[in-house]
Amino acid sequence: IHSDSWCVRYRTELEDKYNRRLSITTELKRALASQQNELSMVYQPKIDLQTMKVCSMEALIRWNNSVLGFVPPDEFITIAEQAGLIEQVTTWVMKQTISDLAYFRGMGYGFTVAMNLSTQDIQNKVLLGKLVSLLTQEGLSPEALELEITESDLVADASLAIENLNELTARGFHFAIDDFGTGYSSLAYLKNLPVKTIKIDKSFILSLASDENDQQIVHTVLSLANVFNLKVVAEGVEDVASLEILKDWGCDIVQGYYISRPLSRSDLEDWLQNTPF
Ligand code: C2E
Ligand code: CA
Ligand code: CA
Ligand code: CA
Repeated sequence: IHSDSWCVRYRTELEDKYNRRLSITTELKRALASQQNELSMVYQPKIDLQTMKVCSMEALIRWNNSVLGFVPPDEFITIAEQAGLIEQVTTWVMKQTISDLAYFRGMGYGFTVAMNLSTQDIQNKVLLGKLVSLLTQEGLSPEALELEITESDLVADASLAIENLNELTARGFHFAIDDFGTGYSSLAYLKNLPVKTIKIDKSFILSLASDENDQQIVHTVLSLANVFNLKVVAEGVEDVASLEILKDWGCDIVQGYYISRPLSRSDLEDWLQNTPF
């Protein structure tokens, strides 16, 4: 009876996982094909610590589905990659983000917008070509956009990714390494790549003010980044104490709930008019 119930529980768990994945795939396909605004973009401000002013926005996708409710991006992006849907998702993100960026530029705002790319996107020349033409259509230059990629995109058999990275950099695009510190790569390795910016993962920042281990790690990363001439963004800044520490240690840019949560385009418009930053 014991081993049997264990077995049943294990099987049920697998079935649940499989069913969830299946309905996410089905619903996501439908959402991409329909015009019902299930998908949307939100924008989270980044502050330059030298000027204490807004310098950039990270574009983050949101999905609200009538059957599944709110599905976290971490979950459905991974499934989209496995189900062969990521090209469609990223195309949608590019269109929306670039059109919103053009909108804000039209209002006179000079901030850049940072877009997340997934591993497969960086290997996809057709998709990257689309990015260039969408920008051209809106009359924007590549400098208006930042592209966030993770370390794992660049290690292990990623020669095509690196080739594409070099090509886009030559065209004027800027890349940032996301989730820095969670992978295996090192700052010395990044030195040989056309990467100007790293984003320290929020897992090292959330408790920065109270956690001595995090302080040691972040301090080390900041001093090394300085040696290698890399710009550093800290994500997950939730309190002023962490912000002050980061400022003292020469961090360039901060992003987090202390500044603002990610906001819809219209909420961002209001925020920009009332913010002290
Ligand atoms: P990420 O690129 O590392 O994005 C940062 C995440 O941290 C976002 O979660 C953001 O809402 C959250 N965050 C920002 N400030 C704070 C803070 O102060 N405290 C805490 N606790 N969290 C904070 P989100 O929006 O849920 O996105 C999760 C992940 O999903 C992203 O991690 C990214 O890997 C992926 N993602 C989101 N949008 C896109 C997209 O358009 N395309 C792709 N390929 N991936 C995306
Ligand atoms: Ca990111
Ligand atoms: Ca992160
Ligand atoms: Ca991430």
